[in-house]
Amino acid sequence: MRRSLRKDRAEARTFAAFSALFASFLALFGAFGCTPAPEPAKTTFAAMDTVMTLTVYGGEADALAAARDRVLELESRLSVTDPDSEIATLNRDGTAALSPDTAELLRRALALCAQVDGALDITIYPVVRAWGFTTGDYTVPDEAALSALLEKVDYTKVRLEGDTASLPAGSEIDLGAVAKGWTGDELAALLREEGVKSALLELGGNIHTVGSKPDGSDWRVAVRDPGDPEGYIGVVSVSDKAVVTSGGYERYFERDGVRYWHIMDPRTGAPARSGLASVTIVADSGLYADGLSTALFVMGAEGALDYWRAHRDFEVVLVSEDGSVTVTAGLARAFALSAGCHLTVAQP
Ligand code: ADP
Ligand code: MG
Repeated sequence: MRRSLRKDRAEARTFAAFSALFASFLALFGAFGCTPAPEPAKTTFAAMDTVMTLTVYGGEADALAAARDRVLELESRLSVTDPDSEIATLNRDGTAALSPDTAELLRRALALCAQVDGALDITIYPVVRAWGFTTGDYTVPDEAALSALLEKVDYTKVRLEGDTASLPAGSEIDLGAVAKGWTGDELAALLREEGVKSALLELGGNIHTVGSKPDGSDWRVAVRDPGDPEGYIGVVSVSDKAVVTSGGYERYFERDGVRYWHIMDPRTGAPARSGLASVTIVADSGLYADGLSTALFVMGAEGALDYWRAHRDFEVVLVSEDGSVTVTAGLARAFALSAGCHLTVAQP
């Protein structure tokens, strides 16, 4: 079990490192304009079960160190596996006094769960664990086990009064579907306060951009091809946005020829099989982008586009299991499709 956990993490880290490198390459591509770009400062470290690379242009010299410290602080509060974290304490004791950070994220996560009508449900954790995604010790739980666990899955039962949270007996929460996105928002705010005008924050597969590239042009962020670990299906050009992808290819195992991934449908307690292979959200807020990438993956293409039409405060790239690509109208010009792919532009 230990070995498979290590292997799983090692693979996740290799992938994250590769994606990060790839994103940096694309983001910097074309950065050599007439005005010389300021020298970037850069740091790479492991946190929140992935590899993070923060690249900052201008601003105070210690801004990067402050940003890294902030990530580690949030990780120590939010980690579901660190027994000393606030979330682990809440899961163990059924109640906990939360720091303002954790209370704020929990409040916003619960609001988002409601906004997507439960496609995102932070109480899914016991189900995720039953499938082995928390340890790498994978298994396909039987129907009876899953329906017993599903009785405890209901984000509307989580109570947050002031900074004190409580859970019904047997329920546990995990903020993993939104934590990296929110961390990106916190880092972007911190760096802006430190005078940074231009930064690329790669939190595993979550990309957060501050301002534009130093030469004033957009950052170029690659969207992975879910069917080809080496390839990408296109590039989005953005400034001051979060770009977050959830995909079935990110963490999965195979049993008897069937692939099971880590994004769960809270209605069934099984991996969401909606016909989508990945969902990439482009939004101002990292938390919103992160939560929506998971929720819209669960909803499937039709539900995702209905949600977009009803809200219009984000854009999305949907890649289906058959390889077809749909982008929402706001990305029609900002998205460059790789050769050989077929693109549909969804209209409001
Ligand atoms: P990642 O964190 O791997 O980038 P996501 O942001 O899509 O990917 O979050 C997936 C994680 O969130 C899973 O590993 C699991 O712990 C949890 N999760 C899975 N399905 C759901 C869901 N429907 N609602 C809330 N959390 C989920
Ligand atoms: Mg997410």
